[in-house]
Amino acid sequence: MSNVQVAVVTGSNKGVGLAIVRALCKQFQGDVYLTSRDPDRGQAAVAQLQQEGLRPLFHQLDIDDLQSIRALRDFLKEKYGGLNVLVNNAGIAFKVHDTTPFAVQAEVTLKTNFFGTRNVCTELLPLMKPYGRVVNVSSMVSSSALGGCSQELQQKFRSDTITEEELVQLMTKFVEDTKKNVHQKEGWPNTAYGVSKIGVTVLSRIQARLLNEDRKGDHILLNACCPGWVRTDMAGPKATKSPDEGAETPVYLALLPPNADAPHGQFVSDKTVRPW
Ligand code: NAP
Repeated sequence: MSNVQVAVVTGSNKGVGLAIVRALCKQFQGDVYLTSRDPDRGQAAVAQLQQEGLRPLFHQLDIDDLQSIRALRDFLKEKYGGLNVLVNNAGIAFKVHDTTPFAVQAEVTLKTNFFGTRNVCTELLPLMKPYGRVVNVSSMVSSSALGGCSQELQQKFRSDTITEEELVQLMTKFVEDTKKNVHQKEGWPNTAYGVSKIGVTVLSRIQARLLNEDRKGDHILLNACCPGWVRTDMAGPKATKSPDEGAETPVYLALLPPNADAPHGQFVSDKTVRPW
Protein backbone atom coordinates (compact mmCIF):
# COMPACT_ATOMS: atom_id res chain seq x y z
CA MET A 1 0.00 0.00 0.00
CA SER A 2 1.24 3.44 -0.94
CA ASN A 3 1.95 6.12 1.69
CA VAL A 4 1.45 8.81 -0.93
CA GLN A 5 -1.36 11.30 -0.25
CA VAL A 6 -4.29 11.19 -2.63
CA ALA A 7 -6.91 13.64 -3.89
CA VAL A 8 -10.03 12.86 -5.93
CA VAL A 9 -12.15 15.33 -7.90
CA THR A 10 -15.52 14.16 -9.23
CA GLY A 11 -16.76 15.26 -12.65
CA SER A 12 -13.37 16.63 -13.61
CA ASN A 13 -13.10 15.98 -17.35
CA LYS A 14 -14.07 19.61 -18.03
CA GLY A 15 -15.16 22.91 -16.53
CA VAL A 16 -14.52 23.80 -12.89
CA GLY A 17 -13.57 20.21 -12.02
CA LEU A 18 -10.80 20.11 -14.62
CA ALA A 19 -9.48 23.44 -13.33
CA ILE A 20 -9.53 22.08 -9.76
CA VAL A 21 -7.44 19.08 -10.90
CA ARG A 22 -5.03 21.45 -12.69
CA ALA A 23 -4.55 23.52 -9.53
CA LEU A 24 -4.21 20.46 -7.29
CA CYS A 25 -1.59 18.98 -9.63
CA LYS A 26 0.43 22.15 -9.04
CA GLN A 27 -0.21 22.58 -5.32
CA PHE A 28 -1.08 19.22 -3.71
CA GLN A 29 1.74 16.98 -2.49
CA GLY A 30 0.47 13.65 -3.75
CA ASP A 31 -1.50 11.82 -6.42
CA VAL A 32 -4.42 13.70 -7.99
CA TYR A 33 -7.22 11.71 -9.64
CA LEU A 34 -9.14 13.25 -12.48
CA THR A 35 -12.38 11.27 -12.67
CA SER A 36 -15.02 11.10 -15.35
CA ARG A 37 -18.09 8.99 -16.02
CA ASP A 38 -16.87 8.55 -19.60
CA PRO A 39 -13.33 7.08 -19.79
CA ASP A 40 -12.67 8.60 -23.24
CA ARG A 41 -13.57 12.11 -22.10
CA GLY A 42 -11.53 11.52 -18.95
CA GLN A 43 -8.44 10.33 -20.81
CA ALA A 44 -8.71 13.27 -23.23
CA ALA A 45 -8.73 15.64 -20.25
CA VAL A 46 -5.71 13.86 -18.73
CA ALA A 47 -3.90 14.24 -22.05
CA GLN A 48 -4.76 17.96 -22.09
CA LEU A 49 -3.20 18.45 -18.65
CA GLN A 50 -0.19 16.33 -19.64
CA GLN A 51 0.34 18.78 -22.51
CA GLU A 52 0.62 21.43 -19.80
CA GLY A 53 3.35 19.40 -18.07
CA LEU A 54 1.07 18.05 -15.31
CA ARG A 55 0.65 14.45 -14.18
CA PRO A 56 -2.93 13.71 -13.11
CA LEU A 57 -4.02 10.09 -12.74
CA PHE A 58 -7.36 8.79 -13.98
CA HIS A 59 -10.17 6.71 -12.52
CA GLN A 60 -13.65 6.19 -13.91
CA LEU A 61 -16.47 7.53 -11.71
CA ASP A 62 -20.16 7.97 -12.48
CA ILE A 63 -21.77 9.38 -9.36
CA ASP A 64 -25.18 8.11 -10.55
CA ASP A 65 -23.85 4.54 -10.43
CA LEU A 66 -23.31 2.94 -7.02
CA GLN A 67 -21.16 0.19 -8.53
CA SER A 68 -18.85 2.78 -10.06
CA ILE A 69 -18.58 4.64 -6.73
CA ARG A 70 -17.80 1.41 -4.89
CA ALA A 71 -15.17 0.42 -7.45
CA LEU A 72 -13.37 3.71 -6.78
CA ARG A 73 -13.78 3.20 -3.03
CA ASP A 74 -12.21 -0.27 -3.19
CA PHE A 75 -9.39 1.00 -5.40
CA LEU A 76 -8.55 3.84 -2.98
CA LYS A 77 -8.73 1.53 0.02
CA GLU A 78 -6.42 -1.00 -1.54
CA LYS A 79 -3.91 1.36 -3.15
CA TYR A 80 -3.76 4.17 -0.57
CA GLY A 81 -5.53 2.86 2.53
CA GLY A 82 -7.85 5.87 2.38
CA LEU A 83 -8.22 9.34 0.97
CA ASN A 84 -6.84 12.78 1.87
CA VAL A 85 -8.85 15.18 -0.30
CA LEU A 86 -12.30 14.70 -1.84
CA VAL A 87 -13.87 17.37 -4.05
CA ASN A 88 -17.49 16.61 -4.92
CA ASN A 89 -17.72 18.76 -8.04
CA ALA A 90 -19.83 16.69 -10.48
CA GLY A 91 -23.17 18.29 -11.22
CA ILE A 92 -25.76 18.98 -13.89
CA ALA A 93 -28.17 21.77 -14.74
CA PHE A 94 -30.90 21.97 -17.36
CA LYS A 95 -30.68 25.07 -19.52
CA VAL A 96 -33.21 27.79 -18.72
CA HIS A 97 -35.12 27.28 -21.97
CA ASP A 98 -35.11 23.47 -21.82
CA THR A 99 -38.66 22.24 -22.43
CA THR A 100 -38.28 18.95 -20.51
CA PRO A 101 -41.23 18.74 -18.08
CA PHE A 102 -40.34 20.28 -14.73
CA ALA A 103 -41.01 17.04 -12.82
CA VAL A 104 -38.50 15.23 -15.03
CA GLN A 105 -35.95 18.01 -14.59
CA ALA A 106 -36.46 17.77 -10.82
CA GLU A 107 -35.96 13.99 -10.73
CA VAL A 108 -32.91 14.02 -13.01
CA THR A 109 -31.26 17.02 -11.33
CA LEU A 110 -31.78 15.74 -7.80
CA LYS A 111 -30.58 12.29 -8.81
CA THR A 112 -27.10 13.51 -9.68
CA ASN A 113 -26.60 16.72 -7.69
CA PHE A 114 -28.05 15.53 -4.41
CA PHE A 115 -28.45 11.75 -4.34
CA GLY A 116 -25.31 11.03 -6.38
CA THR A 117 -23.20 13.40 -4.28
CA ARG A 118 -24.64 11.85 -1.13
CA ASN A 119 -23.81 8.34 -2.34
CA VAL A 120 -20.21 9.38 -3.00
CA CYS A 121 -20.03 10.78 0.52
CA THR A 122 -21.58 7.68 2.06
CA GLU A 123 -18.97 5.47 0.40
CA LEU A 124 -15.89 7.71 0.58
CA LEU A 125 -16.19 9.73 3.81
CA PRO A 126 -15.36 6.66 5.94
CA LEU A 127 -12.07 6.49 3.99
CA MET A 128 -11.02 10.05 4.85
CA LYS A 129 -7.69 10.10 6.67
CA PRO A 130 -6.88 12.40 9.60
CA TYR A 131 -6.51 16.03 8.43
CA GLY A 132 -8.57 15.14 5.36
CA ARG A 133 -10.40 17.86 3.46
CA VAL A 134 -13.81 17.49 1.83
CA VAL A 135 -15.27 20.10 -0.50
CA ASN A 136 -18.84 19.86 -1.75
CA VAL A 137 -19.39 22.17 -4.71
CA SER A 138 -22.79 23.75 -4.20
CA SER A 139 -23.87 27.15 -5.52
CA MET A 140 -24.97 30.62 -4.42
CA VAL A 141 -28.23 29.50 -6.01
CA SER A 142 -28.69 27.31 -2.91
CA SER A 143 -28.94 30.50 -0.83
CA SER A 144 -31.38 32.23 -3.16
CA ALA A 145 -33.46 29.06 -3.46
CA LEU A 146 -33.52 28.80 0.35
CA GLY A 147 -34.92 32.34 0.43
CA GLY A 148 -37.65 31.16 -1.96
CA CYS A 149 -38.76 28.35 0.36
CA SER A 150 -41.67 28.63 2.80
CA GLN A 151 -40.76 29.71 6.35
CA GLU A 152 -41.36 26.15 7.49
CA LEU A 153 -38.93 24.68 4.96
CA GLN A 154 -36.37 27.43 5.64
CA GLN A 155 -36.48 26.57 9.31
CA LYS A 156 -35.87 22.89 8.55
CA PHE A 157 -32.98 23.60 6.17
CA ARG A 158 -31.34 25.99 8.66
CA SER A 159 -31.81 23.62 11.59
CA ASP A 160 -28.70 22.52 13.49
CA THR A 161 -30.33 19.23 14.33
CA ILE A 162 -31.77 18.09 10.98
CA THR A 163 -30.63 14.53 10.20
CA GLU A 164 -29.43 13.12 6.90
CA GLU A 165 -32.55 10.92 6.79
CA GLU A 166 -34.80 13.96 7.24
CA LEU A 167 -32.95 15.78 4.48
CA VAL A 168 -33.29 12.79 2.16
CA GLN A 169 -37.03 12.69 2.92
CA LEU A 170 -37.37 16.38 2.08
CA MET A 171 -35.43 16.04 -1.20
CA THR A 172 -37.57 13.00 -2.10
CA LYS A 173 -40.72 14.96 -1.22
CA PHE A 174 -39.68 17.78 -3.56
CA VAL A 175 -39.41 15.34 -6.48
CA GLU A 176 -42.76 13.76 -5.58
CA ASP A 177 -44.41 17.18 -5.20
CA THR A 178 -43.24 18.23 -8.68
CA LYS A 179 -44.84 15.08 -10.13
CA LYS A 180 -48.17 16.07 -8.58
CA ASN A 181 -47.52 19.69 -9.56
CA VAL A 182 -48.04 20.80 -5.96
CA HIS A 183 -44.43 21.79 -5.20
CA GLN A 184 -45.12 25.53 -5.05
CA LYS A 185 -48.20 25.00 -2.89
CA GLU A 186 -45.98 22.88 -0.63
CA GLY A 187 -43.57 25.78 -0.17
CA TRP A 188 -40.83 24.88 -2.67
CA PRO A 189 -39.19 27.39 -5.03
CA ASN A 190 -39.61 26.78 -8.75
CA THR A 191 -36.00 25.67 -9.31
CA ALA A 192 -34.86 22.06 -9.42
CA TYR A 193 -31.19 23.04 -9.56
CA GLY A 194 -31.68 25.41 -6.61
CA VAL A 195 -33.35 22.73 -4.48
CA SER A 196 -30.65 20.19 -5.41
CA LYS A 197 -28.00 22.65 -4.21
CA ILE A 198 -29.93 23.39 -1.00
CA GLY A 199 -29.56 19.64 -0.51
CA VAL A 200 -25.79 19.80 -1.09
CA THR A 201 -25.28 22.72 1.32
CA VAL A 202 -27.46 21.22 4.07
CA LEU A 203 -25.87 17.79 3.59
CA SER A 204 -22.47 19.44 4.14
CA ARG A 205 -23.65 21.05 7.38
CA ILE A 206 -24.94 17.68 8.61
CA GLN A 207 -21.77 15.81 7.61
CA ALA A 208 -19.56 18.37 9.35
CA ARG A 209 -21.65 17.97 12.50
CA LEU A 210 -21.30 14.17 12.33
CA LEU A 211 -17.52 14.49 11.92
CA ASN A 212 -17.49 16.66 15.08
CA GLU A 213 -19.45 14.01 16.93
CA ASP A 214 -17.72 10.88 15.67
CA ARG A 215 -14.20 11.83 14.55
CA LYS A 216 -13.31 15.02 16.39
CA GLY A 217 -9.68 13.99 16.91
CA ASP A 218 -9.12 13.47 13.19
CA HIS A 219 -9.20 17.20 12.33
CA ILE A 220 -11.11 16.62 9.09
CA LEU A 221 -12.59 19.80 7.60
CA LEU A 222 -15.67 19.61 5.34
CA ASN A 223 -17.35 22.55 3.64
CA ALA A 224 -19.75 23.48 0.87
CA CYS A 225 -18.81 26.22 -1.56
CA CYS A 226 -19.75 28.19 -4.64
CA PRO A 227 -17.12 28.56 -7.35
CA GLY A 228 -18.73 31.79 -8.59
CA TRP A 229 -20.24 32.33 -12.02
CA VAL A 230 -17.84 30.42 -14.24
CA ARG A 231 -17.48 30.15 -18.03
CA THR A 232 -18.20 26.46 -18.55
CA ASP A 233 -20.62 24.40 -20.62
CA MET A 234 -23.04 24.71 -17.71
CA ALA A 235 -23.01 28.50 -17.28
CA GLY A 236 -22.05 29.63 -20.79
CA PRO A 237 -19.59 32.16 -22.18
CA LYS A 238 -21.04 35.27 -20.51
CA ALA A 239 -20.08 34.17 -16.99
CA THR A 240 -17.56 36.38 -15.21
CA LYS A 241 -14.90 33.90 -14.03
CA SER A 242 -12.54 31.65 -15.96
CA PRO A 243 -12.56 27.98 -14.86
CA ASP A 244 -9.19 28.52 -13.13
CA GLU A 245 -10.68 31.45 -11.18
CA GLY A 246 -13.71 29.29 -10.36
CA ALA A 247 -11.37 26.64 -8.94
CA GLU A 248 -9.82 29.05 -6.43
CA THR A 249 -12.32 28.69 -3.58
CA PRO A 250 -12.73 24.89 -3.88
CA VAL A 251 -8.93 24.50 -4.00
CA TYR A 252 -8.48 26.84 -1.02
CA LEU A 253 -10.86 24.60 0.97
CA ALA A 254 -9.20 21.41 -0.31
CA LEU A 255 -5.78 22.64 0.83
CA LEU A 256 -6.62 24.15 4.23
CA PRO A 257 -3.39 23.59 6.20
CA PRO A 258 -3.14 20.90 8.91
CA ASN A 259 -3.19 23.50 11.70
CA ALA A 260 -6.48 25.03 10.47
CA ASP A 261 -9.63 24.29 12.47
CA ALA A 262 -11.92 26.42 10.30
CA PRO A 263 -13.89 26.84 8.16
CA HIS A 264 -15.82 23.65 8.86
CA GLY A 265 -19.47 22.95 8.02
CA GLN A 266 -19.74 26.30 6.28
CA PHE A 267 -20.94 27.63 2.96
CA VAL A 268 -18.02 29.50 1.39
CA SER A 269 -17.71 31.69 -1.69
CA ASP A 270 -14.78 33.87 -2.72
CA LYS A 271 -12.91 32.23 0.19
CA THR A 272 -15.37 33.88 2.59
CA VAL A 273 -17.87 32.16 4.89
CA ARG A 274 -21.41 33.18 3.93
CA PRO A 275 -24.46 33.19 6.20
CA TRP A 276 -26.89 30.32 5.64
P1 NAP B 1 -19.81 21.47 -16.49
O1 NAP B 1 -18.80 22.19 -17.30
O2 NAP B 1 -21.12 21.12 -17.08
O3 NAP B 1 -19.11 20.18 -15.88
C1 NAP B 1 -19.83 19.29 -15.08
C2 NAP B 1 -18.98 18.07 -14.85
O4 NAP B 1 -19.73 17.15 -14.05
C3 NAP B 1 -18.64 17.34 -16.16
O5 NAP B 1 -17.36 16.79 -16.05
C4 NAP B 1 -19.70 16.24 -16.19
O6 NAP B 1 -19.30 15.12 -16.96
C5 NAP B 1 -19.73 15.90 -14.72
N1 NAP B 1 -20.88 15.07 -14.37
C6 NAP B 1 -22.19 15.30 -14.57
N2 NAP B 1 -22.91 14.25 -14.15
C7 NAP B 1 -22.02 13.34 -13.68
C8 NAP B 1 -22.15 12.05 -13.13
N3 NAP B 1 -23.32 11.44 -12.99
N4 NAP B 1 -21.03 11.40 -12.73
C9 NAP B 1 -19.83 11.97 -12.88
N5 NAP B 1 -19.63 13.17 -13.44
C10 NAP B 1 -20.73 13.84 -13.82
O7 NAP B 1 -20.20 22.32 -15.19
P2 NAP B 1 -19.30 23.28 -14.25
O8 NAP B 1 -19.76 24.65 -14.47
O9 NAP B 1 -17.86 22.95 -14.36
O10 NAP B 1 -19.85 22.83 -12.83
C11 NAP B 1 -19.07 22.17 -11.85
C12 NAP B 1 -19.78 22.28 -10.52
O11 NAP B 1 -19.87 23.66 -10.14
C13 NAP B 1 -21.22 21.76 -10.55
O12 NAP B 1 -21.50 21.12 -9.33
C14 NAP B 1 -22.04 23.05 -10.67
O13 NAP B 1 -23.35 22.88 -10.19
C15 NAP B 1 -21.22 23.99 -9.84
N6 NAP B 1 -21.44 25.42 -10.11
C16 NAP B 1 -21.11 25.95 -11.32
C17 NAP B 1 -21.30 27.31 -11.55
C18 NAP B 1 -20.93 27.96 -12.84
O14 NAP B 1 -21.15 29.19 -12.99
N7 NAP B 1 -20.36 27.25 -13.81
C19 NAP B 1 -21.83 28.11 -10.53
C20 NAP B 1 -22.15 27.54 -9.31
C21 NAP B 1 -21.93 26.19 -9.10
P3 NAP B 1 -19.74 14.94 -18.50
O15 NAP B 1 -18.74 15.70 -19.32
O16 NAP B 1 -19.67 13.46 -18.68
O17 NAP B 1 -21.13 15.48 -18.65
